[in-house]
Amino acid sequence: MTDSTPDLLRPLTDSFGREMKYLRVSLTDRCNFRCTYCRPENKEVKTHDEMLSFEEVARVVSIVASLGVNKVRLTGGEPLVRKGVVDCVQLLSGIEGITDLAMTTNAVLLDMYAARLKAAGLSRLNVSFDTLDHERFSRLTAGGKLSEVIKGLNVAVEEGLVPIKLNTVLMRGFNDEEVPAIIDFAADHGFTPRFIEFMPMSDGLDWKKSYISVDELLERDEVRARIDLTAMESRDHTASLYLPLKDGRGEVGFITPISKRFCDHCNRLRLTADGRLRVCLPSDEDADLKKAMRAGATDEDLINIIRNVVLRKPESGEYTYETLGRKRSMVEIGG
Ligand code: SAM
Ligand code: SF4
Repeated sequence: MTDSTPDLLRPLTDSFGREMKYLRVSLTDRCNFRCTYCRPENKEVKTHDEMLSFEEVARVVSIVASLGVNKVRLTGGEPLVRKGVVDCVQLLSGIEGITDLAMTTNAVLLDMYAARLKAAGLSRLNVSFDTLDHERFSRLTAGGKLSEVIKGLNVAVEEGLVPIKLNTVLMRGFNDEEVPAIIDFAADHGFTPRFIEFMPMSDGLDWKKSYISVDELLERDEVRARIDLTAMESRDHTASLYLPLKDGRGEVGFITPISKRFCDHCNRLRLTADGRLRVCLPSDEDADLKKAMRAGATDEDLINIIRNVVLRKPESGEYTYETLGRKRSMVEIGG
């Protein structure tokens, strides 16, 4: 940072008083899977030059870190298909102020990368894990192999790249009946399962038919048999509700972007692979940081651009059926 006047570095706060602490960085819009809920068919991918370089990503992360962001999550597309991903982790883990550097991945390439990611400073992982059924998994991901995911998870554990959370997108008639089995699988292996309400982000998908709320899930006897629901009373208003397992083997997370919005406490920003800083997942409000950086913006210019877009963060983003037509799909934004 060239200019260090205290006012320039005041916290990054939006017009509703929310202070930004968390940046999700999409390293690529490419993926080795094509999950039906995430990646529309015929979506063009960005060229190498259209994507931010790691130095550009690090510059943005350093700037937002100087404004109070302390948590970064690498996502995608599939972050592990971006060439040189370990170098990127190394670069970001050394940035002052970033105390938590995590990654969301489909785990397929973890057998190759887990040890190096750990050594480069990655703190923890979230792994997409939507079904325990091999045939169903292949159908969901357009040919992905569940055995490779499980191998990746095993290697991550062996290499000490833990803790690991398993992310399951809830889809009625597809995996909702598997919730108890996924809870048991996760608890048996020391992972924390998290069940996420399906968001209508992908084109042409019958979202309404597949959507199931966390409340409906928590009514089911097989789920109630495993989870201590008394802890519900102490629910705070963060993005996740964590409830303990009755048998003491950890906890289960529930993410309710549709049925119980958590916008009041939203402290997130998202950087797309092509350098747009998005201020709200379901809103297309953003700022083109790549264009600014490549046009020679100083750090002070970038801070001003970032502050301005943060001031445009909506009080509450809307997920409606109409959002199916939004400009960007989940695979581009990074979840
Ligand atoms: N490829 C990585 C993976 O699958 O973990 C990271 C990128 S993926 C876009 C990030 C997260 O978004 C995943 O946990 C995925 O399940 C979630 N996701 C994608 N589309 C979603 C949707 N329509 N509703 C809810 N979650 C979604
Ligand atoms: Fe790829 Fe992850 Fe999206 Fe599946 S959820 S298509 S693995 S980016």
